[in-house]
Amino acid sequence: MEKNFFDISPEIRELGEKAMKKVLPYFEEIDEITEYNQLKMLRAFQNARVSESCFAASTGYGYGDRGREALDSIFAEVLDTEDALVRHNFASGTHTLTVALFGVLRPGDTMVSVTGVPYDTLQGVIGLGENSNGSLKEFGINYEQVDMLPDGGIDYEGIKCAVKPDTKMVYIQRSRGYSLRPTLLFDDIRKISNLAKSIAPDCIVMLDNCYGEFVEKSAPGNVVDLMAGSLIKNPGGGIAPTGGYIAGKRELVEACSYRLTTPGTGKEIGCTLGHSRELFMGAFNAPHVTGEAVKTAVFAAALFELLGYDVTPKYNETRGDIIQAILLGNEERLISFCQGIQAASPIDSFVTPEPWDMPGYDSKVIMAAGAFTLGASIELSADAPLREPYAVWMQGGLNFHSGRAAVLLAAEKMKNSGKDS
Ligand SMILES: *Cc1c(COP(=O)(O)O)cnc(C)c1O
Repeated sequence: MEKNFFDISPEIRELGEKAMKKVLPYFEEIDEITEYNQLKMLRAFQNARVSESCFAASTGYGYGDRGREALDSIFAEVLDTEDALVRHNFASGTHTLTVALFGVLRPGDTMVSVTGVPYDTLQGVIGLGENSNGSLKEFGINYEQVDMLPDGGIDYEGIKCAVKPDTKMVYIQRSRGYSLRPTLLFDDIRKISNLAKSIAPDCIVMLDNCYGEFVEKSAPGNVVDLMAGSLIKNPGGGIAPTGGYIAGKRELVEACSYRLTTPGTGKEIGCTLGHSRELFMGAFNAPHVTGEAVKTAVFAAALFELLGYDVTPKYNETRGDIIQAILLGNEERLISFCQGIQAASPIDSFVTPEPWDMPGYDSKVIMAAGAFTLGASIELSADAPLREPYAVWMQGGLNFHSGRAAVLLAAEKMKNSGKDS
């Protein structure tokens, strides 16, 4: 007899089997994408001639750090860009995006966000809130926005009106973030970029690529000018302990490097302190780990649909990121779901997440995360603001086996709570 390591009822196990049958054909597609991206990564390592000397710790200015340079060239190759800036001292994804924005925008420039309001933490960077201290706005950079259509689609007509021949930046956010709009696919990004360039040939098309890396075969480097992302999401492979990347056209990446360090020194300095090995290992594992996270999301979509909930995206929809939203309908279920995910974590499985008043949110938020790296959302995690439509956003999973167990445990915890809706 197989041993049951977790308390999951026969009823939920059976539904889990049903869900597996539904998703298996889609797992073949995910495996094909994973293999493609994994081999692309392997080839990039070889082309960069990575050897053990690349892992050596540099100190001080870090001049001539071969590992740092090799890692930049690997990221450029897998993202289909001319150049990249991959550093452990980007403190967060927001910091990385901020360096990119301040790196290329100048007073008087206009930035047009064409995918609605950007991710929460970027709003203060742009200067959308009451406190614009240190924001782009304070430095004289104008901001305009084209909202998504009511059905969550891209408002191409709106973009045509908002983008002017002298628009400096067209800003795209790929991931749904914590909204219910669909995530953009490579083709959507290409279409927006083509439209923007037809009106403003010299504009910079910039992409917030967070959560999107290695989910599709096509990398957006061929269709955007500049992109940025976080190493505690997909491209860190669950191993990078911190950091971010900027990638794109050579002269734009250089401008960003002047903002990160200084005009003149740019990419030439920045010691790696012994972190290079983790960043290389993380990058190498990233395509595979991303595939595992996508499988976990697809399985969750199938299982919770069988349980009668609205999910987005559905298990059979093409994905552009690793996020799964599940509309659970009430507070009790959200809490049980998050407690189930937490209980299946390798770290802090014994703690019980509770809703709390998180600064910057207008309702209580509950979060489940039991991760090796604090805040890493390539590791399985779930977040839910306690408000209509009572949706939970789940992402990550270092391997599908533990991811599936966590999703089953979440379903189990919910089974006996919140039955009244
Ligand atoms: C995570 C994320 C960010 C910001 O990254 P942090 O590391 O949380 O600062 C920005 N945009 C999107 C779409 C994200 O998912």
